This record gives sequence, C-alpha cells and structure tokens, in this order.
Amino acid sequence: MKRYRTWVEVSERALTHNVETLRSLLEDGARFCAVVKANAYGHGLFEVAGIAARAGVDAFAVDSIDDALSLREVYPSAMILTLGYTMSDRFREALSANIHLTVSDLEGIEQAQTIGRELAKTFPIHLKVETGTMRQGVNMEDLTDMALHLSRCDRVSLEGVSTHFANIEDSENPEFAARQFSLYEQALSILSEHQICPPWRHCACSAAIILYPQTHQTLVRAGISLYGLWSSELVENTVRRLNLGCDLQPVLTWKSRVTQIKTVHMGTPIGYGLTEVMKRSGRLAVIPVGYFDGYDRLLSSKGEVLIKGTRCKVMGRICMNMMMVDVSQVPQLEKEDEVILLGTDGRHRVTAEDHARLCQTIPYEVLTRINSALPRVIV
Ligand SMILES: *Cc1c(COP(=O)(O)O)cnc(C)c1O
Repeated sequence: MKRYRTWVEVSERALTHNVETLRSLLEDGARFCAVVKANAYGHGLFEVAGIAARAGVDAFAVDSIDDALSLREVYPSAMILTLGYTMSDRFREALSANIHLTVSDLEGIEQAQTIGRELAKTFPIHLKVETGTMRQGVNMEDLTDMALHLSRCDRVSLEGVSTHFANIEDSENPEFAARQFSLYEQALSILSEHQICPPWRHCACSAAIILYPQTHQTLVRAGISLYGLWSSELVENTVRRLNLGCDLQPVLTWKSRVTQIKTVHMGTPIGYGLTEVMKRSGRLAVIPVGYFDGYDRLLSSKGEVLIKGTRCKVMGRICMNMMMVDVSQVPQLEKEDEVILLGTDGRHRVTAEDHARLCQTIPYEVLTRINSALPRVIV
C-alpha cells in the first residue's frame, strides 16, 4: 500500500556499516556512544536507536532529559547521557531513570547531591570542562574547587569528564583543537590529584574519531559520521588524502510522491509571487512537501529532486506544504510516482551537502530540520 505522501527511509545496512567502520578506528579500550540528539539528526530517534542497539553501541547521547526518558522506556539498562542543560527540577526524574547528566557548575553538583540524598541513590554525572568552545563547561581555574566539593558529595558519582572541540572540523588548522585537548588532559590530571578518576573520559566527536585517535580516551561521541556524512569538506579531503580507509554510507533517503501533473505553456508564471516562468512549454508536477516539512524555502527555483532517475528542478517558490517541479524530461510519469528529495536514484544523487551549499548552511542543519512529524521507515 502507498500509505505515505512524504517519508524518510533509514537504511539499517548503511547505519550498521557506519557503526562498524567507526568502531574499527577506535583505540583499544574506547567505547562507542551514538549521538542521537535532534531526532537522531533528523533520522528518527527510535529508529536509529533500535538499529544502533542491534549494532551493539555502548551508550546513547541526547540533548534533553525528555529524549533521555523516552529512550529509557525502551532501553532499561543502556547508558544514556544528556549533553545539554537539565533544569534542576528535572534531576529527580533523571536519577530515578538512571540517566547520566552533563553538569558544568557547582549548582549542578549540589542539586545532584540533594536529589541523591532524597532518593538514597548515587547520582551519575559527567563534568564538562571549558577548554575553548565557550559553550558549556567548568572553567579550568574552578576545577580544584569543584574537585574538593565533589569529594564531599557522598551521593554523587563522577562517572565522566568531557569537553567539546570548537574547530576540529578545520583539519588544516589543528592547533586550536590540540590546545583544547591538552587543557582537557590537564583537567583530568587535576581531578586525579584529588583521587577523582572517572571511568568515562570523552571528548571526541566525529572529526576527532576519524582524524585524531589520541583523543578517543574511554568513550567517543559519534554524531554526523554515524549517519554517513562528513563533518566538513576539509575532513573528507583529509581522509582521502591520507587514505584513511574510512568509507561512510549515507543512511537517509527523503521521499515523497507526485500528487498532480499538468501541462504548462511557455511563459506561464509558477507559484506565489510569480517569481519564475516556464522557459518552454512542458509539464509540471506538484509535490506535497514544503518548508513546514523542512524543505528550505531558500531552495525555491534552485533545488532539484529525482524522479524516475531524472533530475527535476524546483519551479518558483517553495510553499508551506507544497512545491512544484519541472517534469518535462521525465518519461511516462504517473500520479503517485515516487520522488527523491534527498538520496540516490540510479546515477544521480541529491545530498544534504547540496542543500547546505544552496542554503548557505551545513548538512547538520539540513538533516535536523526535516520535520520530525514525518514518518521514518527502516529499510
Ligand atoms: C553534537 C555533539 C557531538 C557529535 O558531533 P558530530 O560532529 O556530529 O560527531 C558530540 N559531542 C557533543 C557535546 C555534541 O553536542
């Protein structure tokens, strides 16, 4: 049955391949955390978590406590870590569900201790250290205080210490990342002087996993590479230049269907604002996808979709829930035929990188903006 108008297909084979490829790069003793924040980079939280769990990943990382709690219902014993901020009032739920929280200040540690006492349980936290991203993180100067405080908190278990790189995707200029890593190592040694040696030491995102094995520590956090995309063009070029034997396979295909086909005369203006006209007489197809679905309005008159192996250009403005494409070159097209918005069809491909270039953004944003209400289907 052709049930869906628009949907996202998630390839189990490709995702499993990526997990295995990335794991084969890991230093001895390093474990693998699948970053499934932002609806698993638009791929579908539960679909991806399911495949990743079958592939044997060691942990999941999400942004919010809400995602962590939803995952916990399905995975009673998995290690689940929140990367983003958790409101103090949610710490109780976090501890009850044994969620590991990222904490980056004294208040966080104190709240963990308070709730740990109340529930008579040990609160697993990961301390995030500021090494130069100027996002979350404890300043290096405050680490000693933090360590002294931690040693007095009998209901807090420092399970991890983490940091995050600001410029590691710029593989031609590794100096800043190297400085951050050295600060991170200093942070670990300050903590160890206070007999604090957390089992989970993690700082490597995709680019670090692929290019800098010395950063792997005991856990790596793989996001974009898990989904088969490169962190940046520079990372991709470096991998190819150094022949690193890391081939990633895109996991996602975004599909829709033709809902109407019409013959249109040369010179006919198309869509809102009459911004584009047919250059010659031909055929137009209406596709039930718009900017609400996450197809960026900047792709108006620029985007391309694949229909029956043919590239078809978007005509006129992307609407809220629809768009029009030129199908003059597609033979024997029928209503409800498949359209590929992102993915491969025969010898043609439309990638998240293509959309990112046209929209002056990065593939991460293109993927994460695919509306989470659209169905995800594992194939
Ligand atoms: C998103 C995120 C990652 C994953 O980064 P990728 O470049 O997608 O691999 C890792 N760590 C933190 C803290 C993140 O926020």
